[in-house]
Amino acid sequence: MENEKYKTTIGLEIHAELKTKSKMFCDCKNDPDKKSPNVNVCPVCLAHPGVLPTINRQAVEFVVKLGLALGGKIPEHSKFDRKSYFYPDLPKGYQISQYDEPLVSGGILNGVHLTRIHLEEDTGRLQHGSKNSSLVDFNRAGVPLMELVTEPDIKSADEALAFAKELQLTLRYLGISDADMEKGQMRVEANVSVSKGSELGTKVEVKNLNSFQSVKGAIEYEVKRHIEALEKGEKIVQATAGWDTVKGVTYIQRIKENAHDYRYMPEPDLPPLEITADVLERLKRDIPELPSEKRVRFVKEYGLSETQANTLSFDRDIAEFYEETMSEKEKASAELVFNYLTSDFLGLVNAAQITPKESKITPAKFADLLDLVEEGTLNSRKAKDVLKEMWETGLDPHDIKDSVSQITDTSALKETVIKIIEANPKAVEDYKKGKGNSLQFLIGKAMAELKGRGNPELLRKIFEENLN
Ligand code: ADP
Ligand code: ZN
Ligand code: MG
Repeated sequence: MENEKYKTTIGLEIHAELKTKSKMFCDCKNDPDKKSPNVNVCPVCLAHPGVLPTINRQAVEFVVKLGLALGGKIPEHSKFDRKSYFYPDLPKGYQISQYDEPLVSGGILNGVHLTRIHLEEDTGRLQHGSKNSSLVDFNRAGVPLMELVTEPDIKSADEALAFAKELQLTLRYLGISDADMEKGQMRVEANVSVSKGSELGTKVEVKNLNSFQSVKGAIEYEVKRHIEALEKGEKIVQATAGWDTVKGVTYIQRIKENAHDYRYMPEPDLPPLEITADVLERLKRDIPELPSEKRVRFVKEYGLSETQANTLSFDRDIAEFYEETMSEKEKASAELVFNYLTSDFLGLVNAAQITPKESKITPAKFADLLDLVEEGTLNSRKAKDVLKEMWETGLDPHDIKDSVSQITDTSALKETVIKIIEANPKAVEDYKKGKGNSLQFLIGKAMAELKGRGNPELLRKIFEENLN
């Protein structure tokens, strides 16, 4: 809610499941969406007595890599801690997490300062049945989970949304997490407060926001609720809340625990982590160009608008296809390549549910097509037909353009018309007797012969010229 008198402050806590092969502390397969329950389990992630966890190196490196990419500080020493609480999806009775020595401190994304990024393990999942019974599935128990916490730097629901989207994109670029919110691979908690003066107001933490729409809706709802309370002179109670997606309201779950309620203590079963300079160097070298950097470069290098650069950055594969096409083309403008890529080509790619690289159209052939458009050899109508043909056959546009351009090529159409006239003397006679629909019949025949590619107006004209 826009309100001059009040200042909105938001801090986000975002969890993301990491895309490692195995779980965080055992070698079970990391596949939390596995349909059959309790398949990817072992004594370690089921918390049998006497078993010992081991640290998944890949998970640690993923978090460090993200930290480096976002300009965070990676301390030489880090450790894991136990966070104790009871819940049926947490078999050990504690979660292995990180308390006072996270893997990453600080950093910045979208202008928002980060407090920390740490590594922990996901819980199992409960399936609440009828008749007061619940089932537990431990496939997700022990899946590597990172938690990123921001400073209270965010000023509106829209800014929070933009941050969450940029983080999702960055996680995907780095190959750390698919961060699909619908699948629960990325989960957002929003801390929201409203105040009149310069001091921060009392915050309410809204948990389990499982879509971007919920992130925006829940924050907007809380801000409005806080302002209304403050207007009435009421006090906001620090609390944890949930978000009802159906009703579009938040509901208070509990008054928030303090940190000591979790009885944090160093995890005695795991060694402390030492992160060496050469590991940092190796991970740094491995960081690809980030979406934010790509956008800036696309504007500078190709003269695209920010919106266009933004569109391309949403998908690393599309951005790559664009760049390869740009390096192959001779005449086509950056804008033309953008337009054909993001509308026609992407339309085909999305409909077929494949990646651009899996299509039969290579950037080089795509560039050839666009050069033909730019020089005027193909108009946009014909270009679409050629593109479709290329899509199906993988042929070069130069080999297709002539066959496709027969559509409006009068001499080629005339050939077909003559052939159809000769083959259908009965219909020709009917036409001459004044039977109007026999012309339609002949046009249909010609159209079939041309595999539907004839221009109907032209065909009609050519028939009329040749039937008299
Ligand atoms: P807690 O101890 O309750 O978990 P933290 O200090 O760890 O609180 O902060 C958790 C999150 O809440 C962080 O993202 C932080 O930026 C945010 N936050 C802290 N204070 C406020 C506030 N007054 N208003 C909004 N967000 C806040
Ligand atoms: Zn296991
Ligand atoms: Mg906290």
